Order: sequence, then C-alpha cells, then structure tokens
Amino acid sequence: MLKSVQQHTVKEPVTITGVGVHSGITATMTVRPAPASSGITFIRTDVTDRPNAIPARWNFVTDTRLCTVLTNKHGVSVATVEHLLSAFAALGLDNAVVEINSQEVPIMDGSAICFVKALDQAGLASQNAPRRALRIKKTISYKEGDKETFLSPADGAYYGLEISFENTLIGRQKYTHGMTETSYRRDIAAARTFGFLHEVEQLRKMGLARGGSLDNAIVVDGDKILNPEGLRFKNEFVRHKILDAIGDIYLAGAPLIGHYHGVKAGHAMNNKVLHTLFAQPDAFEFITLGQTSPERRFARPGIYAEIGQPQAVTA
Ligand SMILES: [Zn+2]
Repeated sequence: MLKSVQQHTVKEPVTITGVGVHSGITATMTVRPAPASSGITFIRTDVTDRPNAIPARWNFVTDTRLCTVLTNKHGVSVATVEHLLSAFAALGLDNAVVEINSQEVPIMDGSAICFVKALDQAGLASQNAPRRALRIKKTISYKEGDKETFLSPADGAYYGLEISFENTLIGRQKYTHGMTETSYRRDIAAARTFGFLHEVEQLRKMGLARGGSLDNAIVVDGDKILNPEGLRFKNEFVRHKILDAIGDIYLAGAPLIGHYHGVKAGHAMNNKVLHTLFAQPDAFEFITLGQTSPERRFARPGIYAEIGQPQAVTA
C-alpha cells in the first residue's frame, strides 16, 4: 500500500512562489534534497540571528487556530504547513529541506495541487535506506465537546471525516479516503480550503486572511458560493478537511498505517490525537518496511461497519 519500501527525497530543487493566506506576504520556497532519515525540515532563510531550522514534527506545533504553525525552540515559526505536508505524505516524500524566506507557506490555489505539480517537476529519487511507517496497534481517540478524532488499526492508510455545518450549502458531509498516490491525486489534491464571508470580514479586521481571495479559497455567503467557477467536487469541503488531516498527521514523522477518523475535527484535534497516541506506547509502533508484512496482520474487516467502507487500496 505504501509506494515503496525505500525512502525518497526530491531529485532536484524546485521553487514555488506565492502569497500567504493569513499574512498576505509573498514567500519564495525551495524544496531541496535531504539525506536519508533526516525527515522534513523547514529553514527560514530570512532569519539569520538565531537557529532557523524548524522540524516538521507534531511536537513543534504551537498554533492550530487557523492553520498549523510550527515553531522551533528559538521562537522561529512557519505557518500554514499542512497543504504542503499533505502533498509530501501522498507522494511519499520522506526527506526534504524546505527553504522559505518568510513566515508562511504560500496558499497557491487553496489546495495541494500546485505542490503535487512541483514535486512532479522535481521528481523523486529513492535513497538507500528503508522507510519507516507508523503503525497503529489499538484504537485511541481524543474528544472535546462534539468533536472527536480517532486513530485505529487498519491494513493501509485511511482518512475519514464527518463535518456538519448549519449552513445548508455545506450541511453534513462524510467521506472516507483510502489513500494511495493515485487516489490522492484524483480525489483529494485539488480540494480547496473554504471560509464564510462573515468570518473572512472578521479575520480581516483582526489583520488576518490578508492574502485570502476567491483565487485561493471557496468563499461561502449564506447558501451561495461566491467563486464564479463553482465547486471542483460536490463535497469539496469534506475532501479538503481530509487533505488537511493527511498533512497534519504526517507530522508524526512517518507514513501512517492505520485509520484516521475525525468528527468535526480540524488542525487542533489532529494535533491532539497525535499527542494522545504518543502518550500511549502500547497503541503504536514504528516499523521498518520491507522486513515484515504488518499490514496483513492487522486487517480487521469489521472495523468499517460504523464509519463506512473505504475504497479498496491497491499497490
Ligand atoms: Zn486546509
């Protein structure tokens, strides 16, 4: 189910430029090759007075209110990392240095499609080291009010979400994605972020959403979509929440072998479920791919009765 048992980095550097949705600042970002087992690291090239490397790991997350923000111990941050990391997770990029000359990853069109295209342009190179994966051994959950996130054992990587808005245009949407590179490119990569017009106006007053526009988000006003081109998928909203979850969960530091399920969950819940998981050593293990066939051992056909059968996962 995972693309390869070898680790991968980019074959050559690739540069992306665009505006940050919250800061309104234009950033230039270069994804560069990195050694095996080094993981994903952001480097703030505009910060020169302190150590400027920020590991893309769950325990460096410092803010999840509007997007996922990572901060190193010297107070150097990078914001809105989730869509980029989602593309990395789906395409199987294990190791990279992401140089960025500002505080926020460009929003591009609000989806992950530009990052997927950039990785396609760079190409991926296999490295002479086996991949590690995070295998969920028993179900854990984190609950807060009517929100809940689960991580359960599964024979592949599955991401399910349920969202519920009073707004009739969005309403209730539920979707489970059986993740392969192919299915991600087809079903998830192009799903854009979204916001409500009244919230966008409020955020602007607070000095946020400065870079937000109809070019990088679906904007909902009552039961209407303001974007003239309409939606890319009928349920684009829940698909985008899955895109976010894939990026947030990749902060575990390894690809997931398990089933993520979120109920009204966003960036905060995604990070808290990782904290919950890593506090329970008997609930997970890191395995080295190519040495066993662990995905078979944990096949549990009954597990999807309640949350919906995912698509078949192949290759
Ligand atoms: Zn998002």
